Amino acid sequence: MCKEKQLTKGRLAIHLSKLKVFEFADHNKEQYPTDSEIAATVLWHALGLGDVEGKSFTDLGCGTGVLGIGTLILGAKSCKFVDLDGDALAIAEEQSPPGGNFVNGDVLEYEGTSDVVIMNPPFGTREKHIDAKFLKKSFSVADIIYSFHKTTTVEHLRELGNKNGYVMTHQWNFDFPLKQTQKFHKKRIHRIEVSCLRFEKND
Ligand code: SAH
Repeated sequence: MCKEKQLTKGRLAIHLSKLKVFEFADHNKEQYPTDSEIAATVLWHALGLGDVEGKSFTDLGCGTGVLGIGTLILGAKSCKFVDLDGDALAIAEEQSPPGGNFVNGDVLEYEGTSDVVIMNPPFGTREKHIDAKFLKKSFSVADIIYSFHKTTTVEHLRELGNKNGYVMTHQWNFDFPLKQTQKFHKKRIHRIEVSCLRFEKND
């Protein structure tokens, strides 16, 4: 993409906004795609910090792949996409640039490694503490982690990082739009405070 034109954060956001998302979002798996503007903002920060170009990535709970696809667009060497949901994973595979590998399985049992993890995991509203379990798992996968969480849980997750030998270096806050995909949602767009956290392994 954007071969002729220079890639900017705005162009990345437009590109990501055109990606397909879940056809049938399953609320039991807390399936919500990351908003394309928010994804582009975080990816652009990661690029600026030197965490993307030439790096191998894992997108844990990748869904339809917006985060991992963004890393590949920005010059990551490779990205492993991991999700339980085979249908979502197939959509990710269909629209991924070259460099993607696709693993249909449970993140909590995943055993691969990479330079960086990027993830927007379930926030734990359905399955308690699944967000913290994903974060703990990510510490066994990579030395650098980008992970989205509810802002209310940040201090707890910072401590979890410390206990596992990781320091939280950055926090970017967003009003996260969760579009109405479920019948039980009353408002069309409901917003929650979400933070993307960057963790780095202590030397
Ligand atoms: N990261 C994507 C999707 C977020 S929704 C995006 O940013 O758009 C959370 C995703 O985690 C869903 O696709 C869901 O299927 C997946 N998921 C939930 N629990 C999982 C588990 N234990 N193992 C693997 N994937 C899981």
